[in-house]
Amino acid sequence: MNGNPLPDRGPRYTTFTGWVDRPTDLTPPLDSTLSCDVAVVGGGLGGMATALRLTERGADVVLLESEFCGYGASSRNAGQISAKPTGEPQILARVNPQLLRDLVRFAASSVRFSEDLLEQLGIECEYEAVGNVGAAVTKGQMRKAQRDARALLAAGADLKFGDQRELGLPDTFLGGMLTPAGGTMNPGLFTLGLRAALLGSGVRVFEESPVQSVQDVGSGAMVITPLGRIRAKKVVLANNAWAPELAITPQRLSRPVWVNMIETAPVERDRIVATGWTSRAGLATKHNVMESYHLTPADTIAVGVRQLKIGKNPVVERISNPGVVADLTDAFRARFPSLRDVAVTKTWGGWIAMTSSRAPVVGKASKNVYYAIGCNGHGLGQAPYLGSLLADHLTSDEIHEDMMPWWQSENRFPRSLYLHNPVLRAAWLADRIGDRRVGR
Ligand SMILES: Cc1cc2nc3c(=O)[nH]c(=O)nc-3n(C[C@H](O)[C@H](O)[C@H](O)COP(=O)(O)OP(=O)(O)OC[C@H]3O[C@@H](n4cnc5c(N)ncnc54)[C@H](O)[C@@H]3O)c2cc1C
Repeated sequence: MNGNPLPDRGPRYTTFTGWVDRPTDLTPPLDSTLSCDVAVVGGGLGGMATALRLTERGADVVLLESEFCGYGASSRNAGQISAKPTGEPQILARVNPQLLRDLVRFAASSVRFSEDLLEQLGIECEYEAVGNVGAAVTKGQMRKAQRDARALLAAGADLKFGDQRELGLPDTFLGGMLTPAGGTMNPGLFTLGLRAALLGSGVRVFEESPVQSVQDVGSGAMVITPLGRIRAKKVVLANNAWAPELAITPQRLSRPVWVNMIETAPVERDRIVATGWTSRAGLATKHNVMESYHLTPADTIAVGVRQLKIGKNPVVERISNPGVVADLTDAFRARFPSLRDVAVTKTWGGWIAMTSSRAPVVGKASKNVYYAIGCNGHGLGQAPYLGSLLADHLTSDEIHEDMMPWWQSENRFPRSLYLHNPVLRAAWLADRIGDRRVGR
């Protein structure tokens, strides 16, 4: 595993991901001038699924990736693919019930889409269809989970509210809301599997080819990299957290947010069962800033999030902050007190694009330049689905009902009330105060 070990003891810090190694078969950078129907910028799950769908539909496609396909959030995430929609269901049920229904349908369709993609392409990524639970550690969180469940059920979601035993959760949890569709996977294997399919397709892929600018020239667009350029009829920006770095991107479309993960050593299976976690479902706590827990087939536990840190573009490659690693370790020990002796062996992090609406955004930056970005913390299933819906739109002009709610006809993105580090820090503090009531 590549990585930079930080202090001599403790977890191994890596600038990539703990799930897979970097690929070694990188494609050569773009070093000439080429023409194509569509140029896709960014080789995450979103960009790769867009490119694959476009080529399936007969388009001549070039994909440009600044590092290698899978370098970004797609292979670094917590590996929980969930049909639970983004946002606050109770608020949405009151102010915009149609949007909540759209979110529920989009989230469920994106899980089905990704499952189908895995099957069609024969990608082995340790997928376990165990569902995910919005899990409560305090009575307040339990009440919230119950109210959220009511709002989501009314909006058409498939879910079950239950207590710790009914849902097979670790016994420090009180219960929660199970969305049975989806589950857990190794996202690095998913992403590199999609990369392999892409490299075997008709798409011309250029890695180590950072796009420096995209200019709409009326009859098409010009895409510039350090050594080459592409004349494309259309361009799709799928560069996620890096989107604001291209001048053509609409203002305030998203902000880059850094998220950390840790992973433990393997735990004996009978010790896991003894914690009460018999369902193996993915867990996301009902804190203001969730903690996520994913039990892998090797019986390691991947723990994520708990703190979010807004960054600045241009975003830089980085390792986890040791203070956040300690905080995630505290969370793991608090939720799994019987596993206090289990070592944390790895840590990594990644950049996500957060939008002020917390929903994905898709639209046109100019006449010939499109974007599909900002699946926030839900892009494992949603980014490839949204990308493929945009590909369908580019080749047929239709706007699928699952894409319609996220289509931005005006490119107006309001300033966010919550995307500020002091607000996120206050949310973390409120969570820690709430944790003092654990079990109460
Ligand atoms: C730690 C963490 C945990 C998460 N947990 C979950 C989870 O459990 N479930 C879930 O659903 N989602 C989760 N997410 C979110 C999810 O990973 C993302 O929403 C999703 O991967 C976004 O995919 P993408 O293709 O849009 O972006 P990315 O995978 O980030 O891909 C963008 C690509 O664009 C490339 N690029 C950028 N700029 C340029 C340029 N100028 N030229 C060429 N290429 C460029 C980058 O190198 C990168 O490869 C998590 C994210 C993180 C970081």
